[in-house]
Amino acid sequence: MSQKVRVRFAPSPTGPLHIGGVRTALYNYLFAKKNNGDFILRIEDTDSQRFVPGAEEYIIEALTWLGLRFDEGTHAGGAHAPYRQSERKEIYKKYVDILLEKGTAYIAFDTPEELAAKREVVSNFQYDASTRSEMRNSLTLPENEVQSLIDAGNQYVVRFKIEPGQEVLVNDVIRGEVKYNSSVLDDKVLYKSADHLPTYHLANIVDDHLMEISHVIRGEEWLPSAPLHVLLYQAFGWEDTMPQFAHLPLLLKPEGNGKLSKRDGDRLGFPVFPLEWKDPHSGEISSGYRESGYLPEAVINFLALLGWNPGNDQEIMSMDELIQLFSLEKCSKSGAKFDYEKGKWFNHQYIQLRPNSEIANIFYPILEEKGVDFPLQYIEMVVGLVKERVNFVKELWDQSSFFFVAPEAYDEKVVKKRWKEESPAQMQELIEVLQGISDFSAHNQEEIVKGWIESKGYHLGNIMNAFRLAVVGESKGPHMFDITAVIGKDETVARLEKAILNIK
Ligand code: GLU
Repeated sequence: MSQKVRVRFAPSPTGPLHIGGVRTALYNYLFAKKNNGDFILRIEDTDSQRFVPGAEEYIIEALTWLGLRFDEGTHAGGAHAPYRQSERKEIYKKYVDILLEKGTAYIAFDTPEELAAKREVVSNFQYDASTRSEMRNSLTLPENEVQSLIDAGNQYVVRFKIEPGQEVLVNDVIRGEVKYNSSVLDDKVLYKSADHLPTYHLANIVDDHLMEISHVIRGEEWLPSAPLHVLLYQAFGWEDTMPQFAHLPLLLKPEGNGKLSKRDGDRLGFPVFPLEWKDPHSGEISSGYRESGYLPEAVINFLALLGWNPGNDQEIMSMDELIQLFSLEKCSKSGAKFDYEKGKWFNHQYIQLRPNSEIANIFYPILEEKGVDFPLQYIEMVVGLVKERVNFVKELWDQSSFFFVAPEAYDEKVVKKRWKEESPAQMQELIEVLQGISDFSAHNQEEIVKGWIESKGYHLGNIMNAFRLAVVGESKGPHMFDITAVIGKDETVARLEKAILNIK
């Protein structure tokens, strides 16, 4: 098969994109780029009841943030436009008529009340080969009555006429051959006259065919629809161009049992959406990875490994490496536990990998909020010294505030333990020593200060602990002379003087 690889991400705009949907988009993207193929965004909005305003924009914004660019789509255009299903009504109507003509679909007039009444008397009622002859449809009514019912404005649906007892094979790249018996399927509604819109199943198949989709990569929850889709391809006579299926494993709760849900995120304190989402009806706000301080490359790497691995234990992979290494065959069949702590670990790793200048730029607005204003170059030096201690950029402030503001108070416990009787006098001496140093680099300071401590026979630990207390206000922070080299001689001396005056 030399068909060009073309994949589509086909979300329904019914709310914010769930993180599992982001993974589906990512795997489609990786597969497309690996095979020099096209990545298409199709908006499946034929269920007007479930349409949520802003959802489509949210999807595009989220995937753009993560660096997943579409080759074709609602916003990107392309040879198969329009890519929004609600704008393709006429196209679907044509294909519904083809099935009606072929006799593989039929018109049904049963009202919701009639269907409910039937369900009352027949337990496990299913509209299929065993029951369709008892219902009000074009198979049971005379042709002229069907026409007059339509002409009189009666609403109807078009149902797929499924022949029972056939074996349906779904060939799945990840799961192998999955066999179904058509008898378990019901005569699915394909089209509704009420809104002149097809249902998901029909629109999905027609568009995959027309848009020349080569691979359908989607979540496991769609596997039960696959036999119906295979039968639809057969009904249209499109078997030869039927896409390859790949149903991705479920994302499981961190504990491993059951599907990951928004409630798990609320319960355990992690986002399940890529971006913050404000529900347009309730106003409820759900947290997002972006607003929680994740770097997009960390989210990508984290998600890539939820259901796939390169076959070795390599964990840190850039988008380009993921594209090179990705294959559907290496996706797992079994669900992937959503290990949220691992997500934090990835963010930590990517903060280390990003240049300090970029992290400084992200940190800058946080510093502004704290009311401090320092040149970017200075912030960059600070970032370089403390970033190994954080998982998120916003945690940098806690680890580095003393680079920007002198301590106002001194941690009492530390004072008790580290500020000895002789400390004020020793710190006064240290001031003299520091004043005499012209090259204030960390290395040079360390050599001179340690030389002084040794010559005086002082206790190294005592001096350094008191020094840190005076400069930082508590016993934390990176290497002492790295701190003083950054804040400079004058500031260091000023803090020592202040400490001598204020620590009791
Ligand atoms: N519209 C479906 C969804 O919301 C698409 C399923 C598919 O990819 O076929 O996920």
